[in-house]
Amino acid sequence: MINKRDFYINGEWVAPIDGTDFPVLNPATEEAYAVISLGGSADVEAAIKAARETFPSWSMTTPQERAEYLKALLAVYEARSEEMAHSISTEMGAPIDMSIADQASAGRSHLKAFLRALDNFEWSRPVRPGTEGQDLVHEAAGVAALITPWNWPMNQVVLKVGAALAAGCTMVLKPSEIAPMSSVLFAEMVHEAGLPAGVFNMVNGDGTGVGTILSSHPDIDVVSFTGSTRAGILISKAAADTVKTVSLELGGKSPNLVFDDTDIEAAVARGATFCFANTGQSCNAATRMLVERSAYDKAVEVAAATANATKVDMPSKSGDHIGPLVSETQFDKVQQLIQAGIDEGARLVAGGVGRPEGLNRGWFVKPTVFADATPNMTIMREEIFGPVLAIMPFDSEDEAIELANDTPYGLAAYIQTGSNERARRVAAKLRAGMIQVNGSGRASGSPFGGYKQSGVGREGGVWGIEEFLEIKSISGIVGD
Ligand code: NAD
Repeated sequence: MINKRDFYINGEWVAPIDGTDFPVLNPATEEAYAVISLGGSADVEAAIKAARETFPSWSMTTPQERAEYLKALLAVYEARSEEMAHSISTEMGAPIDMSIADQASAGRSHLKAFLRALDNFEWSRPVRPGTEGQDLVHEAAGVAALITPWNWPMNQVVLKVGAALAAGCTMVLKPSEIAPMSSVLFAEMVHEAGLPAGVFNMVNGDGTGVGTILSSHPDIDVVSFTGSTRAGILISKAAADTVKTVSLELGGKSPNLVFDDTDIEAAVARGATFCFANTGQSCNAATRMLVERSAYDKAVEVAAATANATKVDMPSKSGDHIGPLVSETQFDKVQQLIQAGIDEGARLVAGGVGRPEGLNRGWFVKPTVFADATPNMTIMREEIFGPVLAIMPFDSEDEAIELANDTPYGLAAYIQTGSNERARRVAAKLRAGMIQVNGSGRASGSPFGGYKQSGVGREGGVWGIEEFLEIKSISGIVGD
């Protein structure tokens, strides 16, 4: 059993003061392979104190000095990237090839994007050209609490830590208690990179304990959270009494609009594969496929065939299969939602409840496709966070847009069409933070975040750094 009970506070690994043991389970075997500690209030106080005392010196470093530290961190991250991929794969079940190519590499790509953003960032400037003695400066916002989930552990940790470091904030990270091992490794990397003690601190814990203490603590200035809308609301409320800046990257129920003026087979196969990737545990997963009626039957057939061809296997094996869900809780939730789809009358065309054949242990589920879904069904409204696709037809572009926007979420939306004119027109009317057309990727450093109940604020690149900055106006200093 691996022992990772210690927390990283003020530049060293320290034993918990009032921690409670917590097992880390491998989702492919359901067995505990490590033990961490869930911190108590004395542990959080120690971490916040270190961050608070370090803030005056760290916030006064120059952007160039901070860039040098980020470069040092990037070098360590690159050197230990394979170790990181294994850590993520074991704790949350991402198959190893995908963990190397996507999960671990996301951290590297975000660090690079923050370095690029730092290169060009305008830290001070006049309010308007020609307004002498009317200056605007950007400054670090203070001590940040960073609370992250388990589904893309390093993607989310580095999006927050990299941005906070670049901005000049000090911080306390609370990773997901379900997938904490990659963050323990990341803290080792921060240490190896030589960051000054107290800039970065990490305390493991759960939401009701460490999470709540951090989000309500008077010495925390900024809370940056990624996870469920449920927890995001609780965090906003906890942060309200001390008027903190809160940025939230929450859930989604993203639509994929498929028009019949495109290669239907390619578009639907791509959309379904994307929905199943990471075993459906991505906030921007394209889970509602809306298809123009003339292409509907073909789309259902292709989506079902894609699900049936999606292999499910052990994360440790090389290959392009998908792994298990992260936990028993998620397994039960996904099973219940698949059952709800059946009970509410959607047509099951692939997958269903239960484990895939040959996998009797581990939280593995079947890639599942429902056709003939309707807007009010649970599977069309709730974020399932499993490999479950719901499809329904539409008759006109206006109806497609209305259906796409008929959700409390607004994270991402996907458009498949052969017409750029249509793509622009539809993109303009979709209430979502990120629109991807015809399977295009997003440039590294693009803003990540959503409208409506998908969150507040943006992560990544220059927008990510701005979440950790205050703007100060200084008037009256004229001349040298
Ligand atoms: P969660 O939101 O409960 O947990 C995410 C993080 O928030 C963890 O670090 C957790 O300890 C912390 N947390 C939980 N409650 C908190 C609170 N009251 N105050 C402070 N911190 C708190 O997510 P979960 O329970 O692991 O998953 C539940 C659902 O959330 C999933 O089924 C999925 O729909 C959604 N989810 C979304 C994302 C995303 O990226 N949008 C990520 C993870 C989970």
